[in-house]
Amino acid sequence: MASPARRVPSSRRTPFLVAAAVAVFAAVGVAGCGSDGGSSGASAAGTLDVVATTTQLGDIVREVGGSAVDVHQILQPNSDPHDYEPRPADVAAVAKAKVVFESGNTLDAWMGKVVSAAGGDAKVVTAADTNVDRVAGEKSGPEASTYDPHWWHDPKNVEAVIPEIRDALIAADPGKEAAFTAAASAYLRKVQALDGRLARCLSSIPASERKLVTSHDAFNYFAKRYGITVIGAVIPSQTTQAQPSAGALASLAALVRKEHVKAVFPESSINPKLADALAKETGATAKLELYGDTLGPVDSPAGTYIGMEQANGEAMMRGFTGGKQGCPA
Ligand SMILES: [Zn+2]
Repeated sequence: MASPARRVPSSRRTPFLVAAAVAVFAAVGVAGCGSDGGSSGASAAGTLDVVATTTQLGDIVREVGGSAVDVHQILQPNSDPHDYEPRPADVAAVAKAKVVFESGNTLDAWMGKVVSAAGGDAKVVTAADTNVDRVAGEKSGPEASTYDPHWWHDPKNVEAVIPEIRDALIAADPGKEAAFTAAASAYLRKVQALDGRLARCLSSIPASERKLVTSHDAFNYFAKRYGITVIGAVIPSQTTQAQPSAGALASLAALVRKEHVKAVFPESSINPKLADALAKETGATAKLELYGDTLGPVDSPAGTYIGMEQANGEAMMRGFTGGKQGCPA
């Protein structure tokens, strides 16, 4: 492996990026599979057993379900939802669950075999198939899908999913209707407040300064909602399972220079080496991390959906403004 040089002559830029790509994908093959299977076991008496696949869905379901619901969350913080191998504990959790919440649009397509292996009578709710606003997906590649799977990065879509979660929980446990309804309304107001804060914050700088480059193409919904232009991604795909070509990386480097992009944002669950290489190559910073596919660690500021999007807004604004401005919580 070539070691990254501080200053690379322009004639050697493409080989440098290729070497970085090879090194990263060798490492990602190991790093991408390290997630914990999540908690399992008997729930407290009287609570409703449900399963949620992703960290963000798990958080949203816990907000609506409160103490009346025991959530088996399959993915843990910093694990890659595009690349998960289900475990026996996941099958066991689905077998005893009354409701299963999936994210949808191929992101957690691995749940199909879990649900069929589990049997049982759980109702499956797929968030991406509810009344969310959709962005086009990729026509080809490892996770081709009609729609982009990262729906939660538009808080308006979370607002649309909350009533679906509430109604599924009420159907499974009608005696808790009042509690689920109250919790859903309270959480809806918090998500609306988040959306308002992000909209005010991001619109405080000219649209021409809102130029986004990330590890993979996970932020189309956020970009659409807040008027951001997606310049590109080092993995030029809506899945982390695609691989960048040398030509695509060289083109992206040229575009970053041409557009005077100040920041390349690595994502928390993806090896940052390619983003670092692109930043070094172009003079941008790669010090500001985004949460593309996963929440941050439990009890960290980005450990909840609301905290995670707030952190994304803060990081983007710092990157867009060269550190001058953030997004107050
Ligand atoms: Zn993704």
